[in-house]
Amino acid sequence: MSATAARITAVDTYDIRFPTSRELDGSDAMNPDPDYSAAYLVLRTSEGPHEGHGFTFTIGRGNDVQVAAVDALREHVVGRSVAELCADPGALYHALVGDSQLRWLGPEKGVMHMAIGAVVNAVWDLAAKRAGKPVWQFLADADPAWLVDQIDFRYIADALTPAEALELLTKGRQGAPERAAELLRRGYPAYTTSPGWLGYSDEKLTRLAQEAVADGFTQIKLKVGADLADDIRRCRAAREAVGPDIRMAVDANQRWNVDEAIAWTKALDAFDPYWIEEPTSPDDILGHAAIRRGVHPVRVATGEHVQNRIVFKQLLQAGAIDVLQLDAARVAGVNENLAILLLAAKFGIPVCPHAGGVGLCELVQHLSMFDYVALSGTTRDRVIEFVDHLHEHFLEPVVIDRGHYRAPTAPGFTAAMKQDSIDTYTYPHGAFWTAENTEARA
Ligand SMILES: [Mg+2]
Repeated sequence: MSATAARITAVDTYDIRFPTSRELDGSDAMNPDPDYSAAYLVLRTSEGPHEGHGFTFTIGRGNDVQVAAVDALREHVVGRSVAELCADPGALYHALVGDSQLRWLGPEKGVMHMAIGAVVNAVWDLAAKRAGKPVWQFLADADPAWLVDQIDFRYIADALTPAEALELLTKGRQGAPERAAELLRRGYPAYTTSPGWLGYSDEKLTRLAQEAVADGFTQIKLKVGADLADDIRRCRAAREAVGPDIRMAVDANQRWNVDEAIAWTKALDAFDPYWIEEPTSPDDILGHAAIRRGVHPVRVATGEHVQNRIVFKQLLQAGAIDVLQLDAARVAGVNENLAILLLAAKFGIPVCPHAGGVGLCELVQHLSMFDYVALSGTTRDRVIEFVDHLHEHFLEPVVIDRGHYRAPTAPGFTAAMKQDSIDTYTYPHGAFWTAENTEARA
């Protein structure tokens, strides 16, 4: 079969769950016992050897619903021409976002939107593989006018027009080869959340914070928001462990009301927090603006649960955030994240992506690296979150070197999981969960 005639033959989905709640890895003020999970999919093609891999991150039983949502999109994808799909991922994005029976469940938010993101990202994975480039480079090399065509300006044109986007991307190309070389040499700055999970003892927190500094990180993050006395004690321990020159962010995972967020953050003032993350509901734009005024000079950060480009637009228009934390798998994939990166560039707000979960580091590194090479052109005050969990399940796991993400060079989105991990952790019939259930019945 010729390459031009190649079609998508199947969208295979997998419900993958890791028993992370056993070690309290990933525990925070709103998620005391998370089993990190991925609704994972593979686009099979008739052309081999390329496949498209995508996923979205969920927790435990949420994955039942998320996998069903991906399954609901299958009919839009199977049978499509691989070449046409890869030449214009935006066409599929529009078809998925515009499916009126599914759109009613959003619009453009929540479970369906995350499912769309997983499918769209799998197409970008496939397109970049066929081009022989990692996604960051595929984007950085793309014609700016084509990138603008990939963006849905509906609902954001009052803040960012296609002409402005084209200007930003065209400007962003100046000096791109030099920055790509620099990126390959030095990597992209990272910060680590590994020391600061809420369920960890003070001893473990102190040890991991010291290790983070020794490993070259210049920023760490602590979970807060369950108990103020505990937070004061943990922030003191962490600040003593890292010294005055390391940035220490704190993350409340949406725990507070607006007034409470201001009071609680101010109570941690003595430990010089760099940003307060997710102080309240991710939907509360004016609340974030009030918190930002109330906690200055502590910065306000949010984004990992921001549903779409429209909410990000309003956060920026309202002057509600200092740091924009986009997530590779929360919105509708690369297409919508291009819009969000451009909005951030227009408003001059640094993007420090959310990562961790399952495979979010592997995905999101590409977006920041593209932004550095061919959009904002800088890494100043920009860091990608790093969490040292579950990377061993990926074929091309992220590599952290002296506090930096090393730029991936393998073609694609570095999204593929090892077959052995898929077989072991697929729920409920993978080897791990079968053994668990047998034990539980014994
Ligand atoms: Mg967070």
